[in-house]
Amino acid sequence: MTTTHGATPGMMTRRDAILTGAGLAAGLLLAPAAARAARPSLVRSDADTFFPWKELAPGIQGIADPETGGNTLLVTSNGQGLLSDTKFPAIGKALLREGQRAGVKLRYAVNTHHHGDHTGGNHAFNTAGITLIAHKKAEPRILDNMQQYIGGVTGGTRFVGALDRPTQAIVLDEAGELTSKLATMDATNWGPTELMPSDEYELKVGDAAVLLHHFARASHTDNDVIVRVNDNQVIHTGDLVFSGLHPYFDPTAGVTARGWIATLREVRALCKPDTVVLPGHGPVGGPGIIDAQRAYLERLIDAVQKEIDAGKSEDETAEMSWDFMNGLGFEQVRARAIRAVYNELKGDD
Ligand SMILES: [Zn+2]
Repeated sequence: MTTTHGATPGMMTRRDAILTGAGLAAGLLLAPAAARAARPSLVRSDADTFFPWKELAPGIQGIADPETGGNTLLVTSNGQGLLSDTKFPAIGKALLREGQRAGVKLRYAVNTHHHGDHTGGNHAFNTAGITLIAHKKAEPRILDNMQQYIGGVTGGTRFVGALDRPTQAIVLDEAGELTSKLATMDATNWGPTELMPSDEYELKVGDAAVLLHHFARASHTDNDVIVRVNDNQVIHTGDLVFSGLHPYFDPTAGVTARGWIATLREVRALCKPDTVVLPGHGPVGGPGIIDAQRAYLERLIDAVQKEIDAGKSEDETAEMSWDFMNGLGFEQVRARAIRAVYNELKGDD
C-alpha cells in the first residue's frame, strides 16, 4: 500500500525544488505546498516585516510560517522580551531585528530543543546581550549540529532568495555576510549561554511570567522544553506538536512514541479551554491540536503493531499509509515515523 496524497517529485515547482534542496543541504525540514496553504491570517501588518507575525494574546506574538523553519514565540511586556526558537541560520539576524522592534529589548531567547530548524539562528542571539537558554541535554546536541548549521549558512542566500518577502534585499545581504563569516565560526557560535537550572525554570519578562518546562522523559527528543506564558494563556509546545503534519522522528535524539504520548497527556492537562497553543510546526490552535497529535501517535502504534504481528518487515511497513494520515503535510517524513515506531515496538521483543 502506498500513500495517495502529497506531491510527487515530478509535480514539484522550481521553487519547491530550490527550497527542498536548501533544506536537505541543511538536513532540515521544509514544508510541502499543503502546509503552506494553511498559513494563518496575519494580525500584525506584514507590509514591512520579513516574518508573518500574528498576535496570539495581548503582548504575545507568534510566527507560524511553514517556509522558515520551526515556529517562533515572542512574549513582550514593559519593553522587555523573550523569544523562543530561532529558525534557520540565514534568517537569525532578521528574526532578532524584528523581535526587538517597537522598543522591545529582548532579555531572553529559548530553544525548545536542539534541532537545527529551531536553533539555527542562535548565532544572532547569543552575542546580543541576550541570555540564550536551553535544557542541559540540548547543549551537547546543539554543539554537535555544526554540519547542519554549515549547510544552512552556505545554502542561505539561495534559501532566502527563493522566498518572496518584504525586506528581502536586507535579509539577502545578511545571509551573504553570514556566509563570509563562516570560516571564523564554530559550533560554540550556536551554543546556549545558560542552561535551565532545573526542569522547571520561571522567568520574569516585564509583568509577564514565563515558565520553561521539561518533562523528564524522551519524547520528540530527550531535551524538549515547552514555554508556558502567564499561567498557560499561551503554550509554545516546540515539536511535541506538529499540527496538520506528519511528526518528525529522530531516533538519534532518543525519540519514543510512548514517551511522547505520555508527555502530551501532561501538556494537555495544563491547558485551559482557551489556552492558545503554538505548535513546533503548523498553524496555531487550541488544546485540540495536542489531542490530535496524541491520537496520531496512538493510532500509529496500533497500526504498526498489527503489521508486526502479521509478520511484515520494516521496509514493507514503511511503505504503508492509513486513513488517519490522510491530508497531512510533511509527507516526506511519513516513512521515518513508521520506521521509528516499528523499531521501538520491536525493541519490546
Ligand atoms: Zn524537532
